[in-house]
Amino acid sequence: MQKGTIGVTTENIFPVIKKFLYSDHEIFLRELVSNAIDATQKLKTLSSAGEFKGEFGELNVKVSVDKENGTLTVSDRGIGMTSEDIDKYINQIAFSGAEEFLEKYKDTANSIIGHFGLGFYSAFMVAKKVEIISLSYKDGAQPVKWSCDGSPEYTMEACEKADRGTDIVLYIDDENKDFLEQSRIDSLLKKYCRFLPVPVISGKEQEWNDGKYVDTDKDKVVNITEPIWTKKPTELTDEDYKNFYHDLYPGQEDPLFWIHLNVDFPFTLTGILFFPKIKNNFEVTKNRIQLYCNQVFVTDSVEGVVPEFLMLLQGVIDSPDIPLNVSRSYLQSDAAVKKISTYITKKVSARLEEIFKADRAEYENKWDDIKIFIEYGMLTDTKFCDAAMKFTLLKDTENKYFTLDEYKTLIESNQTDKDGNIIYLYATDKTAQYNYINAATEKGYDVLLMDGQLDNHFIGMLESKIEKSQFVRVDSDVINNLIKKDDKKKVSLSQSQRDMLTTVFRSQVPQVEKSEFMISFEALSAQDSPIVITQSEYMRRMKDMAAMQPGMSFYGELPDSYTLIVNTEHPLIEKIKENADADIADKVAPIAESIKQKNNVIAAMRDANKDAKMSDEDNQKLAEAEGEIAKLRDEQNNIITEYAAGQDTVKQLIDLALLGNGLLKGESLSQFIKRSVSML
Ligand code: ADP
Repeated sequence: MQKGTIGVTTENIFPVIKKFLYSDHEIFLRELVSNAIDATQKLKTLSSAGEFKGEFGELNVKVSVDKENGTLTVSDRGIGMTSEDIDKYINQIAFSGAEEFLEKYKDTANSIIGHFGLGFYSAFMVAKKVEIISLSYKDGAQPVKWSCDGSPEYTMEACEKADRGTDIVLYIDDENKDFLEQSRIDSLLKKYCRFLPVPVISGKEQEWNDGKYVDTDKDKVVNITEPIWTKKPTELTDEDYKNFYHDLYPGQEDPLFWIHLNVDFPFTLTGILFFPKIKNNFEVTKNRIQLYCNQVFVTDSVEGVVPEFLMLLQGVIDSPDIPLNVSRSYLQSDAAVKKISTYITKKVSARLEEIFKADRAEYENKWDDIKIFIEYGMLTDTKFCDAAMKFTLLKDTENKYFTLDEYKTLIESNQTDKDGNIIYLYATDKTAQYNYINAATEKGYDVLLMDGQLDNHFIGMLESKIEKSQFVRVDSDVINNLIKKDDKKKVSLSQSQRDMLTTVFRSQVPQVEKSEFMISFEALSAQDSPIVITQSEYMRRMKDMAAMQPGMSFYGELPDSYTLIVNTEHPLIEKIKENADADIADKVAPIAESIKQKNNVIAAMRDANKDAKMSDEDNQKLAEAEGEIAKLRDEQNNIITEYAAGQDTVKQLIDLALLGNGLLKGESLSQFIKRSVSML
């Protein structure tokens, strides 16, 4: 019997392994099964190279739980090890500064194991004693048993073993008894070993018998040895892809489409990425791509490997070239990884363009669902953005789809304003903004529908990309102002009429919570509405952004500010104007005249004193005059407000406009209803 000390520079590595690598205990199984698979694959390689001439027998890996003896065994029929091999590969884990290294990376067990060839030793995370019983494939090899109880001392001796291959026997320690449960092992194998290239057997197939499941004699294979990403796309049908998708993500709707990745140079990578159908909250869908290394599951956190915007996709990526066992920050700065990320982006845009070109109708069909990926990609990845300009679609309120170029051509002639800006009109809610959409389409304009989660940002991006483009929401002004052309009609109101009507209307706007209204006048046409309510594009965008970005709460707290535009060409407004002229102009005019005179006096005083400091006496006079003006204004306001309060038509018109914008609520709404009834 050989005895020795395992070649580590630090006194005892095992307590360190146990202590620091606690977070990911379960990966020992992945490591041991991977070793078993490697040994099996090596045998195949040796055989095809003519170096192994014996019989393979059945090549599989078996994981067996023995609850009575407290052991978990991983057996393979691979190349096996001689005592020299064990000496070389197992006993000499010479690496320096282990403790220091482990201390530094204690939270990322994954990154150390494997990286330093500690794969096999991860067994000591869950076992108090480990045995290797192995028979090498080499001619005349003797079976050997290695045993170690977690101290640096091991023993190695001859033993009995009929079959070629290796058994790794773990004597599970007390804290880790759960690894003796078949169900726990099954779920781990499903997680890590589901697509391994050699059949992995664990337990027996079960059958329903006498009201319960019982084991049959048949071994249960837990993996699929040839997952579809390892096959050629030409060998696969749509059904194959869909089935695979549903296998990976049970309970999901069919994917929209998929991309089969397959490169050998300058790195090796295979995989399939699926575009899932995203409901509303896309955060929850993130991090669903699984990363494999030669069919061994490694992680489903693919940050860095997959470009940020494609984290919304699902599927698998398999690459032996991704340095899987290193820390995340290292991964992100790794040149190979960067290339992979760039490749995936390119591949995704090429595929999208291909689908767009091959079947436009189908692409349009899916557009509403894939739009979020594409917009997200365009917003976060400039390369993708440039590529996607070709296959991004805009949808209008009549459900027609256009490429950016097509749309520009469509609206260019009719929707260019007098300054040469192309105005892209859009709505965010077809029902709520129906009136405005209607007004625009009646003028022969086209209105886009921008109701996606990211459209707000997307619009800003498009404005910066498309020269001389401006996006304005249909309800942000009356239609003639949205696209300003030269032929605008002037409002024919005298200053005093304007002042009077402003007060008439402003005084009758009911209270609307967190909102304020400004009154303005426009000479629209007699067919347009008498009153139109608009919301400033700028303020609305600021507020929308404030809702998404904490730093902008200043805008968020401002009230919504609306403009109530009075259409002076409308007969009803004409009538209101005439009535007001007839009823109160006489009373208001002298007051307005006094205000005007006093203002003149103030202006003259200011003018006379503009170079010198005003005397106390003058200052006093000025203050008095200002006080009088304020009083006169109050008086004027009171007269007009009192008058306006008796004008049901004014109230009715304002309320109708508010109603059209969903702003008439509560008491104001019930007053409106009462008034309407009494007016009938
Ligand atoms: P790594 O797999 O990263 O090289 P391990 O500590 O897991 O590190 O294994 C060390 C070596 O021991 C392997 O490279 C292999 O040569 C050998 N080995 C481990 N398990 C087996 C096995 N089941 N059959 C044959 N050789 C094995």
